Amino acid sequence: MNKKGQLIVVSGPSGVGKGTVLAQYLASRDKIAYSVSATTRAPRPGEQHGVQYYFLSREEFEQTAQNGGMLEYASYNGNYYGTPRQPVEEQRQQGNDVILEIEVQGALQVKKSCPDALLIFIAPPSFEELANRLTGRQTEDAKTVENRLNIARKELQCAQEYDYIIVNDTVEQAVERLTQIICANRYNKNNMKEFLDEVNQHA
Ligand code: 5GP
Repeated sequence: MNKKGQLIVVSGPSGVGKGTVLAQYLASRDKIAYSVSATTRAPRPGEQHGVQYYFLSREEFEQTAQNGGMLEYASYNGNYYGTPRQPVEEQRQQGNDVILEIEVQGALQVKKSCPDALLIFIAPPSFEELANRLTGRQTEDAKTVENRLNIARKELQCAQEYDYIIVNDTVEQAVERLTQIICANRYNKNNMKEFLDEVNQHA
C-alpha cells in the first residue's frame, strides 16, 4: 500500500534556529521533502532562486495566489510568503512526507484546510535568548531585528494552536524530539485510517 505522506508544518519565531534543526533532521532521512516557498522579499547574500525560495515579484506572487496556486500564504514583515500547492500534493501522493517551514498565519490556514496536518512549534528557551540569537546573526539591521522581535511576541502567543511544542535548547535534543514526534504521528489513528479500512474490508 502506498500510504499518503504526512503534511508537517513547522513554525517558530525568526532566530529560533528552525532552519538548523530542520536541516539536521532532513539530512538523516529519505522519503521526506522540504517545500521550497515563494516570497517577494529580496534574496539574502548566497540565497538562490529555487533553492532557499522562489523569489517572485509582487505581481507574479499575487497572480499565482489568485489562481489557487498557493496552499497557503501570508504577509510577513512587508513581504508575501507562500507555499506552492502542486509540489506538496505530488510528493504526498508519492508517499513522501512534506515539511513546510512557515510562519503562524500560514500554519493556521493549513490547519483549517488540511486538518490531518501535523503542526509543530519550535520555541526558544526564553525570550531573552531569542533576542540574543537574532542580534548575533547580523544579517539584518536593528529596525528589522526589532520588527522580528515584535512579530515573535505575537507568534509565541499562537503556539497553543499547534499540536506539539519543541524547545530548542540544544539542536541535538530538538532534532531528537522532532524525530520522535513525526514518527509517532505516522501511527496516529487518523493516519492509519486507510490501513484499517483495508484490513477491515478483508476481515
Ligand atoms: P525569512 O525572511 O527569515 O526567510 O522568513 C520569514 C518568515 O517567513 C519565517 O518565519 C518563515 O518561516 C516564514 N515563511 C517562509 N516561507 C513561508 C511560506 O511559504 N508561507 C508562510 N506563511 N510563511 C513562510
